[in-house]
Amino acid sequence: MDKKKVLVIGGGFGGVFAAKALERRARGKVEVELVNANNYFVFQPLLPEVAAATMHSSDAVVPLRQLLRRLQVRQAEVRGIDFDTKTVIVVQGSRLTPIELKYDELIIALGTRVDLKRFPGLPEHALTMKNLADAHRLRTHVIGCLETADVTSEPELKQQLLTFVVVGAGFSGVETVAEMRELIRHALKYYPNIHPNDVRVYLIEYADRILPTFPADLAEYATRRLQIHGIDVLTGVGTKSATASGVELTDGRIIPTSTIVATIGNGPHALVEALDLDLHWGRIKTDRFMRVHRHDGVWALGDAALIPLVEQPAEDPSHYAPQTAQFAVREGRQLAQNILRKIEKRELKPFAYTSKGSLASLGMSKAVAEVYGVKLSGTLAWLLWRGFYLSFFPGFAGKLRVLVNWLLNVVTPPNIVQVQSTSPATRYIHYRKGDRVLEPGMLIDGFYTVVKGSLKLTIDNPETGEHFEKLFGPGDHFGERVLLRSALRTGLVIALEDTTVLWISQKDFTRFVRAFPFLENYFKEYIDQTFGGTEESFAPGSANHKHELETSP
Ligand SMILES: Cc1cc2nc3c(=O)[nH]c(=O)nc-3n(C[C@H](O)[C@H](O)[C@H](O)COP(=O)(O)OP(=O)(O)OC[C@H]3O[C@@H](n4cnc5c(N)ncnc54)[C@H](O)[C@@H]3O)c2cc1C
Repeated sequence: MDKKKVLVIGGGFGGVFAAKALERRARGKVEVELVNANNYFVFQPLLPEVAAATMHSSDAVVPLRQLLRRLQVRQAEVRGIDFDTKTVIVVQGSRLTPIELKYDELIIALGTRVDLKRFPGLPEHALTMKNLADAHRLRTHVIGCLETADVTSEPELKQQLLTFVVVGAGFSGVETVAEMRELIRHALKYYPNIHPNDVRVYLIEYADRILPTFPADLAEYATRRLQIHGIDVLTGVGTKSATASGVELTDGRIIPTSTIVATIGNGPHALVEALDLDLHWGRIKTDRFMRVHRHDGVWALGDAALIPLVEQPAEDPSHYAPQTAQFAVREGRQLAQNILRKIEKRELKPFAYTSKGSLASLGMSKAVAEVYGVKLSGTLAWLLWRGFYLSFFPGFAGKLRVLVNWLLNVVTPPNIVQVQSTSPATRYIHYRKGDRVLEPGMLIDGFYTVVKGSLKLTIDNPETGEHFEKLFGPGDHFGERVLLRSALRTGLVIALEDTTVLWISQKDFTRFVRAFPFLENYFKEYIDQTFGGTEESFAPGSANHKHELETSP
């Protein structure tokens, strides 16, 4: 009998723990593959420590291949799902090659994305705290603010640079603001021109108290601790808009700042939103067994899914599994069991789990915790917080690295090196005669202008028999058709001699063109003249992928 193929998309808490349980329980009875955008699993609760430079960024993550040694791991980005043909479309590698992956059972574990578009200016000016790059960016940004504030002679700019605002006081907002305050406090001794009183740190929460999932007395304790720590906690007020120089609050106040960190705005993943799925509150509706409505063989879990905890759920968030790592892990294990039960034609089990409690670190070796109904605060809660996350962190080597980071922090000062890792938006690429610059059917990654040499584009459509050729010399360009129009795939581009091109990233090119009407007009006319109305038929393969997303933003 052929082995069933289980495909897991998303390698966070939900996806990894489902895959691990399948690896352990299925013992070769099913073939399991996990697809994730990065080759590592992010332990999100440690991100605030990465941002505070108390945890090395690579120590807050675990390589997926070390975590899931007996199954296939694929580093690729999921771009589409065709539920009719049970196919997932992914792109992988620097050449953005699209690949189709077949499945019998599909687990959607893509998490959520930050959606700030309700607040003008926030998407452009706020830093977020969702993945490793975010945490790294925040750390670099805070250190950059201190560097400039120490040497600037403009008092207004100095005040703006030394004002830090965190929006949202759930546990990620509280832990982020506390850790950021710690970093600043420890770092200040190396910045002689900054007086500690020059620094302002705000935590903004729309609800009337912080940490809404904790009992009120623990939230009060946490507020007092944060205030002692030098953080202004503003509750009952939200953010209205933001600019590069400040944030406007809903009560009309404007706080001049160069640093806004948004831990609010949990929105549906772009792919989840674009697919033919039933969503509620931006999450994929499932039944109690985690089966996705209307799609046979499709399951969802973690932050992306809305899993009922009771038989007849009402419009009440407490009737559904909350978006926490604690739940995602249990969902993963239960979902794996249900897939195996389905394959073995046994009865499925509904997901049932009661939270064992919550923990939040407040910096300066203090925390709040409610575990099995017992409330704790202070240093004891902080030790519990550390012990719990250490035991929860996957793998012995990973645990050891986290522990070493924590021990090092006791005896060493914070690392205030500002590592800049932004890659340039443009670069030169050299090709030798005969090199294949683009393969037919690839998703294009940028806009190309020929600086020196020559190239040939060939597009063949096997369905219609149409054939198209074009030569490019210095000053000519290509890529715009795929980036600006609905054509999704490239043709074949070959270097006819040794050639140099200037490459502009897809995102920067589209932003730039949309900002300049004359450029947009130029490209529109150019595409019309060069490809006419036939471009759709010149997009090999696109008709087969009706659910595929456009690659341009
Ligand atoms: C700063 C912070 C602190 C937190 N602290 C706690 C805590 O203390 N306790 C707690 O219980 N919870 C905590 N949480 C919440 C918890 O981390 C989430 O509930 C949990 O991560 C959800 O797991 P998930 O698998 O659904 O999603 P995620 O962990 O977000 O995983 C989604 C995965 O999908 C991948 N992915 C997304 N799109 C694609 C694509 N197109 N192609 C391929 N891969 C893709 C992502 O790279 C990611 O690996 C915290 C969250 C944050 C942000």
